[in-house]
Amino acid sequence: MQPLKKYEVWFVTGSQHLYGDDVLNIVRDHAQQISHGLHQAEAIPVSVKQKQVLTNAEAIRALVLEANQAPQCIGLVLWMHTFSPSKMWIAGLTELKKPFLHLHTQFNRDIPWNDIDMDFMNLNQSAHGDREFGFMCTRLGLRRQVVVGHWEEPEVQEEIGVWSRAAAAWEDSRCGRIARFGDNMRNVAVTEGDKVEAQIRFGYEVHGYGIGDLAAVVQDVADADADELVHIYQEQYRVAGELQPGGAKHEKLKESAQIELGLRRFLEAGSFTGFTTTFEDLHGLPQLPGLAVQRLMADGYGFGAEGDWKTAALVRSMKVMGQGLPGGTSFMEDYTYHLDPQNAMVLGAHMLEVCESIAVGTPSLEMHPLGIGGKEDPARLVFRSPDGPAINASIIDMGGRFRLVVNKVIVEDPQQELPKLPVARVLWKPLPDLKTAAAAWIYAGGAHHSGFSQAIADRHMEVFADLAGIELLTIDENTAVQEFKKELRWNEAYYGSSRR
Ligand code: MN
Repeated sequence: MQPLKKYEVWFVTGSQHLYGDDVLNIVRDHAQQISHGLHQAEAIPVSVKQKQVLTNAEAIRALVLEANQAPQCIGLVLWMHTFSPSKMWIAGLTELKKPFLHLHTQFNRDIPWNDIDMDFMNLNQSAHGDREFGFMCTRLGLRRQVVVGHWEEPEVQEEIGVWSRAAAAWEDSRCGRIARFGDNMRNVAVTEGDKVEAQIRFGYEVHGYGIGDLAAVVQDVADADADELVHIYQEQYRVAGELQPGGAKHEKLKESAQIELGLRRFLEAGSFTGFTTTFEDLHGLPQLPGLAVQRLMADGYGFGAEGDWKTAALVRSMKVMGQGLPGGTSFMEDYTYHLDPQNAMVLGAHMLEVCESIAVGTPSLEMHPLGIGGKEDPARLVFRSPDGPAINASIIDMGGRFRLVVNKVIVEDPQQELPKLPVARVLWKPLPDLKTAAAAWIYAGGAHHSGFSQAIADRHMEVFADLAGIELLTIDENTAVQEFKKELRWNEAYYGSSRR
């Protein structure tokens, strides 16, 4: 993943010539201080670059065309320091291809009660300048993020940070490439979808490969390279006795390392950002990639099991958004329930493929039978996740359009050892409660696969859905099933009739 600081958002200030050069010089100085302050803000992970103060339609359009062409520019932050008559913005805004955030702020936080005069009023009038601009954005039907408050306020910087993370994920999605090894798990519906529509909507490409293509690369991995990687495993994990040198399954662990190296080389050679596997198609591979998938996810690759390319792309986007934040992001599956009415919970896991970025403590490296797939026992990391808030997100194909479903959850300590469960696992309580959340999720058609994150929150997903122009349904502490069903019906009318 590209470091977020390499992405730029351009800080653009609107004004007009009516005020004269003296005022415009002050506007420029204020804009410089604000953009510098935002660039330095810890909550904003991308680079904020100051652009000129724009005072006419030609300059606005030229700036927009420059932004459209600049690969490092992932979006604009627009602010009207003074009045900037918004007919001037039509030519530019109708050409703009990048996301934008409308920052409704003011250079000064407080009104200088004793000194305020008409000069001050004319200089600091974003209160109505930004409304004039907002009208034009609404009139043009433009999707954007509106953030209100003083630019030094931590909450404002945090909101700009959330938007910039989503904008970076959006840029990454536009350039994304997903490799599918084998097709879908046979007969499974929700992991299917329209790859053409996905590429039109999200930008990422999905490419299918025969598993033999991957097996050939895996077979080419030198013995010494696999040995070296096994050493790294021994340094990083608590390795089970039978996998240690001299242990009964040490050679099998070397096979796992070979799979990881082969998979990694394949993905790097094709500049892929995510991938899928399926246990139904493993010809030429000795075991289902488990450990390899876990470690590749930890390095930023998106992943979906059983051919689930939509979830692979979603996990990737969530990982881009979560870069540098505490907590990890993983492919996940609702696996089994604890249906105690007083303490209802979901146990999330997968057969193997849970990302170690969500592990608490040092994962244990083990090898156990899989039970399905008819292959050798695969290696996997076993761990649990730290307590605290998290989200599950699912993307589904409604036929011609995509729907994103997000559920806020609280991860809990199992209070039990689960000594016979040989996979990484997370125990959570969905908000507002399991019955409501599961009913809403099922009414919405949410998948059993999801992207799980303790790094990002529902608001990141909200901005991301907005940038993509797709439907978002959030299940949180305020959700009630009857209201949620109405939202589904209303959305059906809106998204069913709206064009892209
Ligand atoms: Mn699955």
